[in-house]
Amino acid sequence: GRASPALAALAQVLRLERSRRAGIVFPLQKLERSLAPGTDMARFRLFQPGLAALQRAEALFRSDRGHAIDYVSSAVRMDHAPPPALPEVCFIGRSNVGKSSLIRALFSLAPEVEVRVSKTPGHTKKMNFFKVGKYFTLVDMPGYGYRAPQDFVEVVEAYLQERRNLKRTFLLVDGVVGLQKTDHIAVEMLEEFGIPYVMVLTKIDRASRGVLLKNVLEIQEFVKENTQGCFPQLFLVSSVEFSGVHLLRCFVAHVTGNLPAVEAS
Ligand code: GDP
Repeated sequence: GRASPALAALAQVLRLERSRRAGIVFPLQKLERSLAPGTDMARFRLFQPGLAALQRAEALFRSDRGHAIDYVSSAVRMDHAPPPALPEVCFIGRSNVGKSSLIRALFSLAPEVEVRVSKTPGHTKKMNFFKVGKYFTLVDMPGYGYRAPQDFVEVVEAYLQERRNLKRTFLLVDGVVGLQKTDHIAVEMLEEFGIPYVMVLTKIDRASRGVLLKNVLEIQEFVKENTQGCFPQLFLVSSVEFSGVHLLRCFVAHVTGNLPAVEAS
């Protein structure tokens, strides 16, 4: 298999000096220093696991002989989806938002897992199912955008409405451009169906601190004012630098019931 990239494992992150390490593990909190005094920061720290919880979560994402992490199958329709046997999370977002890169980063400690990319316009977009041992499944949903909202109706909407074992939906938003019109369509649908979800801001290594701060504050405000089902804490990630990836693994482990007690750091 491929070698896992630098910083894919917490052990590598822990070797960094303190402030860089904090920025990789808790990228949202690193932004706090740039906020105006008096800003409500409680929402930045709702999910703030300590090292032990981060490590237990990492173990779930590390494959070994007794713990297989595999691509299971792809489906274009719900009747082709694997049986809903395990708790499940799904990742949705506009095409090019960085979804396959993020899933690859999450699974970087299981380098044998192949995260397929189907980008050819005109081809039917599929849901890709991955199984993480006997613990949970993760679904890479078709990227919406070039045919939205048709893609929603055909695949995403049916999945969201029918999937009984779905524990949480991760809605990816581009950290450089912020919330777009198509993202609002996704939000409206998740809200309408009453599905619990969380927003993940991608590619944060490409956004300047100012742009990132503006997008974070705008989204936090939007979530506060306009949503019911969205977790109030935003997750920030860079699949290139591995920022936020360890924290996201921990949150996935938690919401799938595999890490019930998460002690705060
Ligand atoms: P998808 O269509 O949502 O699956 O998007 P991809 O994962 O294929 O990413 C789209 C483009 O953004 C590719 O050129 C990636 O290399 C780039 N990209 C994805 N994630 C990141 C990131 O965290 N940082 C940077 N700098 N580029 C990224």
